[in-house]
Amino acid sequence: MKRVLLWPNPTLKLVSAPVDIQELNADPTAVKALVDLAKDMATTMGTYRGVGLAAVQIGIPVRVITTYTDGTPRVYVNPRVVRLEGGSRMVREGCLSIPGIFEQTRRSESVVLAFQPLLTDSVGAEETFTAHGLLAQVLAHECEHLDGKIAMVDDAPSATRQLIRGDLSKRRRGGLLRDYV
Ligand SMILES: [Zn+2]
Repeated sequence: MKRVLLWPNPTLKLVSAPVDIQELNADPTAVKALVDLAKDMATTMGTYRGVGLAAVQIGIPVRVITTYTDGTPRVYVNPRVVRLEGGSRMVREGCLSIPGIFEQTRRSESVVLAFQPLLTDSVGAEETFTAHGLLAQVLAHECEHLDGKIAMVDDAPSATRQLIRGDLSKRRRGGLLRDYV
């Protein structure tokens, strides 16, 4: 497992780089590195008891995310939200980089996601599917990480952001966040 970056670590602001599939599929070492990254992410997500993780949250700014909403860790390479569907509602949202804090965030009921699947020895062609409910929320959240965004703080009033920042730094000074970078 890897240690998760604690907001507002500046790396979380980076725009993650796409995975170059043609280049990757021509190089078995690179595929293995990506499979290892996905395994690391799944283990980390499990250890921190999260339902989603973007690679940038463990300090690797590439467009790879994992989810854990149905008992199976899933990996999405180069994911992108094609469109939002089904109207939106306010939901309680957290982030592994902002431990123990939850904010009301506006999210769509459904998300149409395009991504490339990670196979054992290659990355497959782009697929599209529609996610609903919690999975839709998690996918939207993780895709935002790939563009350096965390809606629950970036879209919050600055007073809320300051409170969260203060709370995290107090807990860090108190030695409560040793598992975070
Ligand atoms: Zn997050």
